[in-house]
Amino acid sequence: IVTAYRQRTPGSADLARQAADLLPSGITHDARHVDPYGIYVARAQGPHKWDVDGNRYVDFFGGHGALILGHGHPTVAAAIAEAAAEGSQFGASHPREIGWARAIQRLIPSAERVRFTNSGTEATLMAVRLARAFTGRSTLLRFKGHFHGWHDHMTSGYSNHFDGSPTPGVLQGIADKTVLVSPGDIDAVAAVLKTNPDIAAIILEPTGSSFGQVPLKPEFLHGLRALTQAHGALLIFDEVVTGFRTSRGGAQVAFGIRPDLSSFAKIVAGGMPGAAVAGRKDILDLLDFAAAAAAGREKIGHPGTFNANPVSAAAGIAALTILAETDANDVASARAAELRAGLNEVLTQERVPWAVYGTTSGFHLFMNPQGRDITPATFDPHAASMDELKAQPAQLSARMRLAMLVNGVDLNPRLGGFTSAAHQASDIADTVAAFRESIRMLRAE
Ligand code: PMP
Repeated sequence: IVTAYRQRTPGSADLARQAADLLPSGITHDARHVDPYGIYVARAQGPHKWDVDGNRYVDFFGGHGALILGHGHPTVAAAIAEAAAEGSQFGASHPREIGWARAIQRLIPSAERVRFTNSGTEATLMAVRLARAFTGRSTLLRFKGHFHGWHDHMTSGYSNHFDGSPTPGVLQGIADKTVLVSPGDIDAVAAVLKTNPDIAAIILEPTGSSFGQVPLKPEFLHGLRALTQAHGALLIFDEVVTGFRTSRGGAQVAFGIRPDLSSFAKIVAGGMPGAAVAGRKDILDLLDFAAAAAAGREKIGHPGTFNANPVSAAAGIAALTILAETDANDVASARAAELRAGLNEVLTQERVPWAVYGTTSGFHLFMNPQGRDITPATFDPHAASMDELKAQPAQLSARMRLAMLVNGVDLNPRLGGFTSAAHQASDIADTVAAFRESIRMLRAE
């Protein structure tokens, strides 16, 4: 498989050699680390991307989830071009930021006020700062495995830090201000809230970590809403991935829950850099000069050179308007359902004891690290443990990744992927065929 990959991708190999002397690990995002090297993409359109060697891939990274309309949607691309021609940074308010906030509010009823940031990391950072300032409490309740960006308040509880320890460079004192709970354990949440009066907020990925790789049930979310209300803590939905995807109104509309605050990124900016924290007016008022003064409180400072960047705003307005006015969100979900069914059919036919699962426009590949006797039909991710769902066999999933690339598909077997409204039935068929061929290649090695 590695030989076939190297033969197909000499241009990427050359660029990877150059990058190795310039960028740590030769990359710019940990999830882009591929052994022996990743593809270098020259361009992308719709559901496809092409590497520098001219190979075409059906893409299920979808810009890390940002591209529910696919690459280069013509309306979004035109909005970007128009805005860029008018100026990329005004150092002043501009009309598009109002339209952008309205486009969010149209789909997200809890967004009484919106503050734009540049990334999901910044959005969750602002959300927890608001929560701490609003409640006067300091501790966060988070869930093991849930990812909220890479800032200091979010490094424990993820990857190898389920014990609550911080990653290198983050202060122990900050990690100490997070209580970690197993996802789905409402009794444990209740116990923490009962015994710890310092919980400012609960923040979570509402469909479960990695967009539902370890899925949560809606009852759990309703339980969190009731418990936070009872104990004066805020409920923050990190909808960086689920926003505008789990439904047009995100997980909160899908499950009928009104969080106090939400973070949005990815789709919100239509494939450009951009993000937002949104929610209750009385909380966002902590960013408001007049409201803070009237309340006799110090305003939370929040500058940011590229906040509500006009080009990102234009892309965001275009994408959110399409989502509001067309069935694009449903189309993306339908494609994922076809994909999950097709991949599971391959597993069943090839008698591979794995399973593909997921909801709406996402999917996950369970590679059965404990070698349990399962079939796609019998596998229930809600009944599997978090450890089992997260513990993908590293070598196997790395080889699967390369095999799929060799067969013209870019997806991450370890985390899963996303469909877009641009994926066609033929892309799903190509992917299913590539999956079958990849399994045969893995077997032949
Ligand atoms: N929260 C969640 C749920 C995410 O998936 C991500 C990014 N994958 C982030 C926050 C961080 O967003 P960004 O990469 O824009 O900083």
